[in-house]
Amino acid sequence: MAEGGGGMENVPVYENVDVNTKPFHIGAFRDLWLEALKPEQYSFSRPEAAAEDVELMEEMGVSAETLEEVKTICSTESLRSHPADEVPDPDVVPPDSKLATLKLRKKKQDYKKTLVRESIGRHDIYANEMEMLAVGRKTDNPRNSVPEGEIILTFNIVYPVLFERFKYVRAYQTLHVLGSQKLTDLRDAICCVSDLQVFGEFSNTPDTVPQFISKDHYKSAFFFFEGTFFNDMRFPECRDISKTTRDWTKNKDFPDFKTAKMEDTLFYDLRVKVGYPYLYCHQGDCEHVVILTDVRLAHRDDCLDGTLYPLMTHKHRVVTRKCCVCHLYISRWITTNDTLAPMDPCLFCDQCFRQLHYDDDGNKLGDFQAYIYVDAGALN
Ligand SMILES: [Zn+2]
Ligand SMILES: [Zn+2]
Repeated sequence: MAEGGGGMENVPVYENVDVNTKPFHIGAFRDLWLEALKPEQYSFSRPEAAAEDVELMEEMGVSAETLEEVKTICSTESLRSHPADEVPDPDVVPPDSKLATLKLRKKKQDYKKTLVRESIGRHDIYANEMEMLAVGRKTDNPRNSVPEGEIILTFNIVYPVLFERFKYVRAYQTLHVLGSQKLTDLRDAICCVSDLQVFGEFSNTPDTVPQFISKDHYKSAFFFFEGTFFNDMRFPECRDISKTTRDWTKNKDFPDFKTAKMEDTLFYDLRVKVGYPYLYCHQGDCEHVVILTDVRLAHRDDCLDGTLYPLMTHKHRVVTRKCCVCHLYISRWITTNDTLAPMDPCLFCDQCFRQLHYDDDGNKLGDFQAYIYVDAGALN
């Protein structure tokens, strides 16, 4: 598996300073780490405090008494003005204080109290949650546990936007994957609204909208990493949608591109650059920039439940587009050539759409075309 026998070419070197590294082999890079480190250095079990002391004493060449003394002197306890159990709360101003500074402080505190609002915004609560939720998570089933010495890769998935704009756009999703996972695991974890579309015009039959979404119909997709198209070929209906591009490049001045199967490729098999924009393409032409931002050994404080990977640590929240009638509910329908609508195309929630466009018996009123609208905020 290891390419180049784990030579120095598999240590990430910045190709463009502070932008991206030269390509290196993920599996070989990990092997280098495992060779260079002692197993206890990447072990998930915490070193015994006593063993750590012995190690420190040996390293520093000091006696046990000296170590104790240094510990006491360097302890944060020594910074206290009062013993730990009788520290006054610094936020409580003593009553009847004569000090002008304390009087001022009290005044400010009283004023601040009047400003406190009971609730914290949903977005504020959630801001740290996703990242923090999985920190230090363990699993009871040892078979699902992330093995020691496993590599964690961080990928930023950017919105389906034009390539030249990607660097001005915040990552839409940040995902952590394990080196031993397949590329298809990452593909399945990327959520994109174009996978949820329902095709067809339903103005005559609004009650018979099929439950099939594009993801069920069009399963082809590929990643493009370092000159290789990794195609998702898990299902019989999958096609190599990179063929069009490869055919186009044939009589142009491009090097030969290779293909491989997404489901047969582990992240350990990849040879990639850190910080470099790669491509994920699905639904024919929905293109996302994919950037590997970090490769590191798993730490005991990481989420160690392997079943939670790919682990989403960031998800950009988008503004939902509301119904043009009630301005309250998220849109479900989009109409065109609609004589009843104020604009073309026009968005409606399910209730307003039906009340405006159908009589009590469900007969269509007026002339229009209606399509299912999937709001990008549906994935929030
Ligand atoms: Zn997409
Ligand atoms: Zn509405």
